[in-house]
Amino acid sequence: MIELLAKPVVERIQSGVSERAANFAKAHGRKPKLTVVLVGENAASVIYTRKKGETAIKLGMESEIITFPWTATPEDVKTTIDRLNADPKVDGILIQRPLPPSFKEEEVLYWVTPSKDVDAFHPINAGRLMLGLPSFQPCTPAGVMEILKHYSINPSGKLACVIGRSSIVGKPMAALLLQANATILHTHSKTPDLKAICRQADIVIAAIGKAQAINSDYIKDGAVVIDVGINRTPAGKVVGDVAYDEVAQKCSAITPVPGGVGPMTIAILLENTVWAAEQAEAAKIAR
Ligand code: NAD
Repeated sequence: MIELLAKPVVERIQSGVSERAANFAKAHGRKPKLTVVLVGENAASVIYTRKKGETAIKLGMESEIITFPWTATPEDVKTTIDRLNADPKVDGILIQRPLPPSFKEEEVLYWVTPSKDVDAFHPINAGRLMLGLPSFQPCTPAGVMEILKHYSINPSGKLACVIGRSSIVGKPMAALLLQANATILHTHSKTPDLKAICRQADIVIAAIGKAQAINSDYIKDGAVVIDVGINRTPAGKVVGDVAYDEVAQKCSAITPVPGGVGPMTIAILLENTVWAAEQAEAAKIAR
């Protein structure tokens, strides 16, 4: 059994991002810039936001974090996003989730202009992904694809079971695997007899947000298992959606939690930010 660790994959991506950021700064006299907008003080969001900023700076980029209190109105935040959309020195904008209940996700999705939407959440970018057009990469699913590539696991011709259909993970994950010529079993909470369906798959991607719910009954011998879940047990331990210890006895390869998919997300986010900066400058030259 191979443990699919993110570390070497993240190091390779970060080294590419850092080189591109340095070349960009030399050519344009400024660093690629990521601005994160954080509403409230959700503990996990504060940690994720800080980590994004610190990693951006480590890779030679500029980072800005704009914070609002949890009581901020959608109008307050939207006004700031409009300003950032118009600022030529800001390349990537990210609105950290979760947002207060007064923020309607179906409206917020449109706020960040598509060319700065480094999370790839805007409906135009989601549509471009579905059509296979060049666009920002959906950070977590693209991170999964990088892990597969790094460990020479080619999805082409394989049966892949994606468990979960969120817009952030499950749906773009299925789209990327389909583009890589896998055959997709796309399952969710209403799928009957999930175990029997999942047991057919060569590659299982678990993204359901239920601690250790996917046990060895769901996995065929020798399958590759990718655990996207990040859950905290009552004892405070971080675990995935997969029951690691028993599944590891049955599969051929598995991502651990922590240390598997999790660290990939920021690496892809920063790769998207450099790409946004390069595209913005190229568009200026074309004008
Ligand atoms: P979500 O709650 O938005 O979606 C969960 C999906 O799982 C839903 O589509 C639902 O139908 C399905 N589901 C729920 N219970 C199920 C069950 N018992 N059987 C089958 N399907 C079931 O969650 P999400 O945002 O997609 O996140 C999923 C997990 O991935 C969470 O643990 C989250 O913390 C983690 N996550 C990790 C990263 C990262 O690694 N950087 C990024 C995003 C999400």
